[in-house]
Amino acid sequence: LDGFDVVVVGAGFFGATIAERVANELGRKVCVVDRRAHIGGNAYSEIDPDSGIEVHRYGTHIFHTNSDTVWRYLQRFTEFTSYRHRVFTVARGRLYSMPINLATISAAFGRAMTPQEAKLVIAAEADDHVHAHVHVHGASVAQNLEDKAIASVGRTLYDLLIRGYTQKQWQTEPSELSADIIGRLPVRLNFDDRYFADRYEGMPVDGYTAIFQRMLKSPNIELRLGVDYFDIADQIRPDQLVIYTGPIDRFFRYRCGELGWRTVDFAREVHDVDDFQGTSVINYADADVPFTRIHEFRHLHPERDYREPKTTIYREYSRFAGRDDEPYYPINTTADRAILSGYRMMMEKRPNVIFGGRLGSYKYLDMHQAIGAALKTFENEVTTFLAGRELPS
Ligand code: FAD
Repeated sequence: LDGFDVVVVGAGFFGATIAERVANELGRKVCVVDRRAHIGGNAYSEIDPDSGIEVHRYGTHIFHTNSDTVWRYLQRFTEFTSYRHRVFTVARGRLYSMPINLATISAAFGRAMTPQEAKLVIAAEADDHVHAHVHVHGASVAQNLEDKAIASVGRTLYDLLIRGYTQKQWQTEPSELSADIIGRLPVRLNFDDRYFADRYEGMPVDGYTAIFQRMLKSPNIELRLGVDYFDIADQIRPDQLVIYTGPIDRFFRYRCGELGWRTVDFAREVHDVDDFQGTSVINYADADVPFTRIHEFRHLHPERDYREPKTTIYREYSRFAGRDDEPYYPINTTADRAILSGYRMMMEKRPNVIFGGRLGSYKYLDMHQAIGAALKTFENEVTTFLAGRELPS
């Protein structure tokens, strides 16, 4: 690795952004390694050879952000379509709009409701639940996920749309899950059915992988795919900067313990029809349907001329991750947070390593957050490290 100023571990959005900035803004040499055989991290997209449709191997990715900085930065590498994401949930044989809005509430209660009526119905159900809870347990605080969810959406919507889905996601009854693994569930008292509320949203015109190809194109960047950092770590000198976007616990050989993650499995199917479900993502809320969602990728690009009467779908199944699974969603229990603070102390003793991205910070990050964090890390930490440091030639 002689001759490189920076070694970036991971070719996802965090690593690719730092590599691009170091190469193009500072003109310094970067080696990007990824253990996978492709660039793009979890945002990777590829053409399914059996249908000709561009699929997202790690699940549907929709770009959205409120950040002018991130949006402007990405325009250097792609244009975006005007795609707007909308999600539906199938429950007990009927279809509902998500996140919960006035159309969902009206459908769930079987009658047209005004915003005021909907608000009152939900508040009354939430109140009943709190009173029943005080009666049984003698306490009024929301202790578990079920209590917290019912306080947001009432019993009817919770039973119909949230309970089974959450139970499948976590393989645990929601009444046994901690309340702090979910935020407040959104309820819109209008007919706004857009999934994301951000100012900017769209799909990259040529797909995600094309963005990464353009970001990593500089002659200052050398890409080594199929290379695990731990097989080359002993070649790195202390005057070289490492940007590590892999799992933190693995970096420190699990010395403080293993951090908990959920993973998902995707079952791919190719169907000989030009449309399988009519939209890109449908959630399945019933506990007795084993999968949580079906993704149908052709709907992410309605502007494309996909001619073959074929379509690729992925059924998504959720479970806890073992050490060899792809870590997707941090579980973040109290025990996880204690382990993480142990690793944070160990990080301070590694001055030439910057930890970042979703795996390196043990945080769920959307793509725009990973890019935004990488731009900040570049400005604040990477430039400082490299300033005045020239590699011996
Ligand atoms: P990653 O993309 O995970 O990249 C990390 C890379 O490091 C990987 O390629 C990995 O192979 C590599 N690596 C790890 N360890 C090593 C090692 N030891 N040696 C070499 N390489 C290593 N975001 C949105 O904005 N919109 C969405 O709709 C959306 N949908 C999502 C759906 C799912 C199912 C998931 C799981 C995530 C979704 N995200 C979405 C989040 C998005 O995937 C992340 O924001 C993004 O992947 C973060 O980029 P990253 O660079 O931090 O991590």
